Amino acid sequence: AELMDVPAAQIVGSAFKNLSLMVTINQRLDFDQIEMLLDEFGFVAVREEDYAASEVEEVEDDDDPADLKPRPPVVTVMGHVDHGKTLLLDRIRKSNVVAGEAGGITQHIGAYHVELEDGRSISFLDTPGHAAFTAMRARGADITDIVILIVAADDSVMPQTIEAISHAKNAGVPMIVAVNKVDLPAANPGKVKQELLQHDVQVEDYGGQVLAAEISAKTGQGIDDLLEKVLLQAELLELTANPDRAAHGAVIEAQLDVGKGPVVTVLIQKGTLRVGDDFLCGIYDGRVRAMLDERGKQVKEAGPGMPVQILGSGGVPQAGDAFQAMDADRAAEIAANRQRLDREKQLRIKERGIKLGDFSALMADGQVGTLPLIIKGDVDGSVQAVSDALEQLGTSEVQVEIIHRAVGAINESDILLAETAGAVVIGFRVRPDTGARQLAERSGVDIQTYDVIYNAVDDVRSALEGMLSPEQ
Ligand code: GDP
Repeated sequence: AELMDVPAAQIVGSAFKNLSLMVTINQRLDFDQIEMLLDEFGFVAVREEDYAASEVEEVEDDDDPADLKPRPPVVTVMGHVDHGKTLLLDRIRKSNVVAGEAGGITQHIGAYHVELEDGRSISFLDTPGHAAFTAMRARGADITDIVILIVAADDSVMPQTIEAISHAKNAGVPMIVAVNKVDLPAANPGKVKQELLQHDVQVEDYGGQVLAAEISAKTGQGIDDLLEKVLLQAELLELTANPDRAAHGAVIEAQLDVGKGPVVTVLIQKGTLRVGDDFLCGIYDGRVRAMLDERGKQVKEAGPGMPVQILGSGGVPQAGDAFQAMDADRAAEIAANRQRLDREKQLRIKERGIKLGDFSALMADGQVGTLPLIIKGDVDGSVQAVSDALEQLGTSEVQVEIIHRAVGAINESDILLAETAGAVVIGFRVRPDTGARQLAERSGVDIQTYDVIYNAVDDVRSALEGMLSPEQ
């Protein structure tokens, strides 16, 4: 009603008169219903995703396979806290800089790029952990090609190790296991690898396909082997991009610098970006005034797989936003359009994600055939019991898929995963922490908590059978 500037009652009336739909003012309508309703008022409904995509589609021409050249892999390091993510990233940053490249990497811009002696190179996202990884994915930026899963050899597979595995699997990104801290007397790499088997990560020397390296981020032992394996995995993935086209990339990090204005780190995914290029990034347009690499050095151009810091954006975009070099007028027009949409979006009460109560409607629509769930519980036994009970509710038409299960309170990582996977979070005798609750509210992720297994089973069964009312 707000967008069309007609009284809400008129829409409710029209729904009844023209579509024989008995609706109330706070009822959710599906897209087809909205489309028909808008038609009555002379408006055309377009899905937001389609709209955003259609704007830039023209420039999204496919590359001729003949123009594709190999590009460096983009790697994210994930693992449990204190297992050595930061030290590993530091170690690689320091040790594998091409001889003669004076100064080394001086600044944190969100990503860096290392070149090995033989000229091959790798780009690392400099924010370790899966929160950043999933936040980017939630914004549609699948930029990681390979995940390094780091596990300390003197510890074991821990909750965040399991989370990282779930995130990588959900994203369909191959993992390389780095068993770290092998310099410690207490190190037991075999035990760690054995434990990983229980989480469906089969490393090479345990009969699987997952590449693994034993390393010490402290002494540097095994790091070369790890990088070699990253490059081997990259070769298997046959990563290529066309460097000879307008640049396309993703925003890794952005902030407002008092002196320089918006400073945006972009990972170029295809094409080559040059100083002076006009661009669109997120809801802003701009022109590249200057580009800096992770060494703080001015660069004139950046090709596929390269992270660069850009000055000249019209505003501060969000991590995960798309970046695209294009004609200035077009960029300005799309940016203005997106800024308007963005304002309108804030006006609307926007519900996103699958709600348990909506599931049956989506299913009836043929939109979904699987209910993805994330199960958190107070103890291992209960997580297992709830998971088993819910999984068994699946039928031939509709499956319950448990994409992540773990002991502990519902945290932000669970919500991010739920958002990207369109999953519902089930807590058994656990509650969401404050951060998770706020994030769930913002992103529209449904959290259901239970103290009795029977109630959880009942609700999920009702959702599957279409008996749960949407209001719930
Ligand atoms: P993060 O939380 O995963 O980023 O872990 P950090 O990189 O901060 O490492 C946690 C602690 O383990 C720090 O005190 C590191 O110095 C130490 N550490 C990391 N890697 C190694 C290693 O290979 N050997 C030893 N002995 N200590 C390490």
